[in-house]
Amino acid sequence: MSIELNEIKKREKGYKVINNTIQNEGINSIIDLTGLAGGFDVTPEDISLLETYAGPAVFDEKIQQLGIEHLGGEKVLPLNRTTSGIVAMIITFVKKGTQIVHYLPEKPGHPSIPRAAKLVGADYVEYSNIDDFTINDNTSLVVITGTTMDHEVISVEDFEYVIKKAKEQDILVFVDDASGARLRRAVYNQPTAIDLGADLSVTSTDKLMEGPRGGLMAGSTELIDAIKLTVNQYGLEAQAPLVVGMIKALEKYSPDRIREAYHQKDQLIEKLEKEGLNPLETPTGFMFKEDEIKHVVEEKIGDVDVPADIIATVYSMLLLENYNIITIPAVGMPGASKTIRIDWSAKDSEKLTMDEMINAIVNTFDMVCDVCKNNNIEQVLYD
Ligand SMILES: *Cc1c(COP(=O)(O)O)cnc(C)c1O
Repeated sequence: MSIELNEIKKREKGYKVINNTIQNEGINSIIDLTGLAGGFDVTPEDISLLETYAGPAVFDEKIQQLGIEHLGGEKVLPLNRTTSGIVAMIITFVKKGTQIVHYLPEKPGHPSIPRAAKLVGADYVEYSNIDDFTINDNTSLVVITGTTMDHEVISVEDFEYVIKKAKEQDILVFVDDASGARLRRAVYNQPTAIDLGADLSVTSTDKLMEGPRGGLMAGSTELIDAIKLTVNQYGLEAQAPLVVGMIKALEKYSPDRIREAYHQKDQLIEKLEKEGLNPLETPTGFMFKEDEIKHVVEEKIGDVDVPADIIATVYSMLLLENYNIITIPAVGMPGASKTIRIDWSAKDSEKLTMDEMINAIVNTFDMVCDVCKNNNIEQVLYD
């Protein structure tokens, strides 16, 4: 059987399940453990400001102050998404025929980076082994990912080494710190990307903080202004309602919840291991990569002729349908990681006990086995 994952259809199915659950059981029944829980904590006063032309002016000053506090730099630029910022930055600074070099603790990088490289006609190369890292003469941009989509965190030594190499050749350094701006800092006490010597960094305002999906970029006034021009030309900026949500999220952000989960995750992992499972640890929880999910299933029922990304997406969909637990594969954008990652620092982790969590994880593996045996995969993913 050769089936390929339809990313648009599976996402629509994931949304349908969530919507039905909310209609039937209320919003509180949803347990979002993606670490991208979002948040939009605006007040009636904010809304009345939004209804005037003065609102954006008020919000711009606030986001500058809070954003610089969070990310460093001289100026920040609020964006519709982190992806928007990455694309705009590459359009602004990378010329056709040059090369983008990306260092990250574990491949792959976020798909927006190679896609934008292709858009401008640049070559793109990724390194995850620091000994191999090289910058050739044709390089126009060095990208560093502070924390990967699977929450693998770069070491400060590697971070500084890559910046030193780039600066020796006077090359612009951009940091994709989507979740790193909080994870790297809260858990490992690392400095901001800008303080480590990067020229620019971007973070996702919904990752490990209670803000709306959006991006916030920081750097020098000169660089940010150049990117801002592109952002405005292509319509990639955050609109005022998004900016208010970011302000509220930055105002209430505290690293405490992340640090607490960092200490509790060992207990979760121990419990899973007692059940015979092999989770990988993340800074604030645990994860099963797609190959491991397939491996667990094959140990139980023998060889399965289905690609691992599909099995992982089935797992995510069943966890959602049966336990109301949201993980990324069922609802993520096309190309998003198919790792089942549980973020115990998510606010919704308060809605279940550790043992309930373990029970859901174990039972869902059994359900995936049944679905594979009964050939129900397409039904689970799309209907
Ligand atoms: C999430 C993420 C992005 C993109 O964020 P969007 O909100 O989807 O635009 C980019 N890079 C990394 C490392 C991420 O984790």
